[in-house]
This record gives sequence, structure tokens and C-alpha cells, in this order.
Amino acid sequence: MRDDLAELTGYHSAQVAVDVRLNTNESPYPPPAAWCEELAAAVADVEWQRYPDRRAIGLRTAIADWHGVAPEQIFAANGSNEVLQTLLLTYGGPGRRVLTFEPTYQLHRHLARLTGAEVVEAERGSDFAIDPDAAATVAADVRPHVTMLCSPNNPTGGIDSPAVARQLLSSSSGLLVVDEAYAQFADRSALELFEDDQALCVVRTFSKTWSMAAARLGYLIGPSWLVERLEQVVLPYHLDAVTQLAGTLALRHVDEMNQRVERIVAERERLVAGLAELDVDVHPSGANFVLFRPRRMPGREVWDALVERGVLVRDCSAWPRLDDCLRVTVGTAAEDDRFLAALADSLAPCRAGLQEVPR
Ligand code: PMP
Repeated sequence: MRDDLAELTGYHSAQVAVDVRLNTNESPYPPPAAWCEELAAAVADVEWQRYPDRRAIGLRTAIADWHGVAPEQIFAANGSNEVLQTLLLTYGGPGRRVLTFEPTYQLHRHLARLTGAEVVEAERGSDFAIDPDAAATVAADVRPHVTMLCSPNNPTGGIDSPAVARQLLSSSSGLLVVDEAYAQFADRSALELFEDDQALCVVRTFSKTWSMAAARLGYLIGPSWLVERLEQVVLPYHLDAVTQLAGTLALRHVDEMNQRVERIVAERERLVAGLAELDVDVHPSGANFVLFRPRRMPGREVWDALVERGVLVRDCSAWPRLDDCLRVTVGTAAEDDRFLAALADSLAPCRAGLQEVPR
């Protein structure tokens, strides 16, 4: 193995067999039945002996029409993770600097390091927000080749002010990547800043809003010159025929997807209200998950107690800057009720004074 990779640990989320899985920010709802039927019919017509359309023109045209941009401004890949990887392979690499604002999606720095780039970690404020002026100062100082933003930010849930992207664009000559895996659950997007002559791209996924995590499909909206560069780097035929069909057909069901988003956002507010009644601090969220911190018990103990009660959430308690934090994905109302009851139960020993764990 390369020496510089030896100490990396990879990025994994526990896959534990429990009743209620709220740890990977998937949609709690399956895709529309009509989409499943249309996909099954379309798969029967695939020319299996042939490679798929290398440039995924049908899919890119459908995504471009939906966003009101040109197909040449769309790059699609196997999950937004592959989009991020291709971006960093193209613009990161040895001798280059990638700027992140921590804590944020761990895969940004992980992928950057895999390419051999130097990662410069700037800090978010105490409420996990990025101050636009401070960001501009850091960028002017670091002169990154790539700057990664994530809005809403995983795992903290907050939405960046548009001023952050604006300031970064004006202060840094590198590429600005805004990871918007959760943007449809939020009321703001960096897409409003998108222009073909600007070094900005916005990354989206079908995994969350579109209930299609199993299909592995993500994409970016970016300048056509950037998309051309990415196509030079990505593997030939990387996006298989079924994934291309799955995405193209999904875009015929936009209304149903939007209804799912509305339900998840309403359920998020109910979940946040439920959490606020317990002995935890809750961070505001514009995504389909909520970060919280038990006030008087170590996060890891609460995580264990939840698993014992059949509920799996994301354990962020040992992550840098996130001491004792746990992240719960918004589930169905029934799943969230199970989670809230399990959490109340898990925190009960502390309330009863049986377990005093000063932090
Ligand atoms: N970006 C962020 C911020 C995420 O949280 C995730 C999912 N964990 C991804 C990208 C990757 O999503 P996918 O590869 O499923 O599109």
C-alpha cells in the first residue's frame, strides 16, 4: 500500500440488524410503484451485449431539462460519491490543496487524501456555521485548488448562507464544489450562483430525495468546460444502462418525489420537537437528519442503549469536534416514535440519578 494511505481508516457506517435503521440518511419511503414497473419494463429492452451509452445523453438531457441547463452542464456518475471522487481526481492530486470546513462530510477529505492532495481543514464556528468573511480570509491565505462546501452540512444539518459561496468565489481562484446531497430538504441552494464561466459546481444525488440509494446515481451541475474535463478522467462506461434508465424514468415522477420531500420535512419538524423535550441539545437542520448531543450521558452509551432497543443511529460521538454527538435520520412517523421512545428510555437512568456521568 502507498505509505500515505496506510493510516486512513476508510469511511463506513455500521450495518447492524435492527428493526429501525436511522443511520444513513436514506429515504424512509420506497420509490413510486409506477417507477418500479416502468423500470422493469425498460430493463427487458436493454441490449445487454452492448456497452451502455458512454456519455449517458438521455439521462443527462432529462436532468438538464429539469434544472433548466444544458446537457453539457451535467456530469452523472455512480452516486454523488463518484462525482466527488472524479472531481478530486481531476482537480486534486499531489502538490494540490483541498480546503474543507470542519466538521463536514468525512468523505471530502478522505477522497482528497486518496488522490494525494494536501487537505487544509478550516474550522466552522461554535454553532457549526461558516462566517463568510472568515472563509474568504482562509481561502485567500490557503489558495486552494479545490474548496469543498456541504450545504445542508452532513452531519451537522445547517444550511450555509449564500454569502459563503459568494465570498469564496470572489476570493479564491480554485474550483468551488458545493455538495448539496440534501438540498431538496432545504430552502436555499448555491445553484442561484451557477454560471458557465464561473468555477462553481453543485453536486446532487438520487439517493435521498429520490428514494434510490440502491441504484447509485449522483450528478453535478457545472460549467461545460468542467464536465468535459471530468469525462477525460472518469472510467469508460462507468454508468451502467440500468442506472441510466432508473434516473431518466425517475424524472417522470417529480411530483411524487416532491410530496415525499414535503412529508420528510414536516416529519423532521415533529422529530425536532420531540427531541427538544428530552435531555439533549439539538442542532437546527435543513436536511433529512438531525444532530443531537445527550446532555448528561456519553454519546457512545446512548448509542449502545438505542441499539439494545432496536434502533440504529449514526454514532458521531468520537468524531473530531463532535464529542458525544449522535445523528438520527428522519424516518417514518412510526420509526421516529420508536426512536424517541427508545431515546427517552435510554436517557432515563440519567434522569433518575442512577447514572451520573459528568462530561
Ligand atoms: N454527499 C453527502 C454530504 C452525503 O451525506 C452523502 C451520503 N452519505 C453523499 C454525498 C453520497 O451520496 P451518494 O453517493 O449515495 O449519492
